[in-house]
Amino acid sequence: MKGLIFSIKKYAIHDGPGIRVTVFMKGCPLDCWWCHNPEGKELAVRMVERIDRVGDKEFRSQEQVGHEYTPEEILSKIEADRVFMEHSGGGVTFSGGEPLMQPVFLRETLALLKDSGFHTTVDTSGYARREILQSVMPVTDLFLYDIKHTDPEVHRKFTGVSNELIISNLDMLLSEGKDVMIRIPVIPGVSADAVYMEQLRGFIESRNNGHIKEINLLPYHKTGSSKYRRFGLDDRMLSVSQVSNGHLDDYIEILKPLGIHVKKGG
Ligand code: SF4
Repeated sequence: MKGLIFSIKKYAIHDGPGIRVTVFMKGCPLDCWWCHNPEGKELAVRMVERIDRVGDKEFRSQEQVGHEYTPEEILSKIEADRVFMEHSGGGVTFSGGEPLMQPVFLRETLALLKDSGFHTTVDTSGYARREILQSVMPVTDLFLYDIKHTDPEVHRKFTGVSNELIISNLDMLLSEGKDVMIRIPVIPGVSADAVYMEQLRGFIESRNNGHIKEINLLPYHKTGSSKYRRFGLDDRMLSVSQVSNGHLDDYIEILKPLGIHVKKGG
């Protein structure tokens, strides 16, 4: 069994869980307007033109987006950073795209990493059949779980799918005692709004059973824009500006009464 991966990166998270290696997996069933990894959406290898500029000169080359790895190859790449991860209390995160779109590979790789003593995290939209999510639960220490919007129609408009399955999967994870960090994309015109943040506080409060370990506010930023140009994709967020720090501080204040640590970014 091989998995299709578009990037493997090492991050140092100073105010969080140490040095983490993140494996970005290809394929996603959602189509979020603000996606900053559009190269991860398609579950296929793609060749794209890469343009590098040095001074006034342009250099064009073909770049392959997506490479296949076996679980053993992932483990051996990660082993190289074991010492850093062990000393910092870090681990391995599977992100994407949507890692649950390649469930057999994901389950096998997570099991291999757990057997080798690594802390494992799955960063998911939650949009997957329940049995798929259940299959990775025993080998996943922590879920990073996106709540893109609590209203099903708003969710459908901006992601292409309803949120019903996502919310019922979140409830299942929490009722099974799995640790979850809730991630909130803060998007102007969608969720960057004080009234919505108050509704969201109620949504989280009704589920707060001690297993929601942190809330991450993920402000919309423009760093993905250049990828849309590079991959020749339509950028539906062209006219949208970034969220100010002041507004993020206001949203943190609104969520504070939950008694859960709220962090900008994550
Ligand atoms: S769920 Fe994540 S990877 Fe998938 S389209 Fe949305 S932002 Fe992009």
